Amino acid sequence: MVMGLKCSFCERKAIINMREHRLMLCEKHLIDFMRKRVEKTIIKYKLMTKNDNILVAVSGGKDSLGVWDILNALGYHTEGLYINLGIDKYSRISKEKVERFAASRGLTVHEVDIPKAIGTSTPMAAKAWKRSICSVCGMIKRYWMNRYAKENGFTVVVTGHNLDDEIATLFGNNTTWQIDYLQRQSIVLPETHKKLVKKVKPLAFITEKESAAYAIARGIDYVYEECPYAKGATSVEFKYILNLLENRFPGFKLRYYNGFLKNKKIFGDSHVKLNECQVCGFPTTLDTCNYCRLKKHISQTAKSLTI
Ligand code: SF4
Ligand SMILES: [Zn+2]
Ligand SMILES: [Zn+2]
Repeated sequence: MVMGLKCSFCERKAIINMREHRLMLCEKHLIDFMRKRVEKTIIKYKLMTKNDNILVAVSGGKDSLGVWDILNALGYHTEGLYINLGIDKYSRISKEKVERFAASRGLTVHEVDIPKAIGTSTPMAAKAWKRSICSVCGMIKRYWMNRYAKENGFTVVVTGHNLDDEIATLFGNNTTWQIDYLQRQSIVLPETHKKLVKKVKPLAFITEKESAAYAIARGIDYVYEECPYAKGATSVEFKYILNLLENRFPGFKLRYYNGFLKNKKIFGDSHVKLNECQVCGFPTTLDTCNYCRLKKHISQTAKSLTI
């Protein structure tokens, strides 16, 4: 609640002060604002249509449940996908929140159980493969979002990346001058291969603060705790720095992101050649995709692992 201040559109109390838009909004007008903004992004960037069969990747957090709620309210045909990573208590709580959300709205949620699929939990798999857990986790999630969508007739995959996520990635790519990553960073990742499903980010212009306020206004019961492996992640540090800049220069986040989208072409087009994995058949730049390599490695070291 913004103490003692009124909504810019009505007599109700404001629950959020959006300095970047010079707006203070009550619950009702925040909900309207968010839905309109998401719909504008969908139309401007041609993210999806009412004829699409949409799979929303849901983690149980405010962003993914929030975007699912918005798309459902806007009349899109959506189902959810929960990828159970086997991260102890965090995965158990997230799964409960996702299932409760779906049941309360009469929506369908599917699950991919990673420990069952690869033979061990994601943290154990990362340890066995000697890679950072977040890179293994990210690879597994990207793989299954696409594979599940393709195998089950979905035409679009939606993720809950918000503006803060997008600019933290952009900041990382900018400061290390990862040109190939800058070429690929986009609100729409098109299907550049017959086995790739289009992936889109309808919350790309919504800040983390707005997303949290929306979830609260809609009574969405989401996981408040961060994944235990998020601590110390560089993206968290970058978000802290970018928030300082936003506080000092309201509108900085939107200007930074819009400026990137406007000038993105200076980085050129991405020309990644994709093959079909010789094991699973899904697209990869290698002969065997990283997911199948990981699976093989786990089965070879299975005796020393426990789920
Ligand atoms: S913070 Fe947790 S959920 Fe996020 S990528 Fe890392 S391990 Fe996966
Ligand atoms: Zn109002
Ligand atoms: Zn494969």
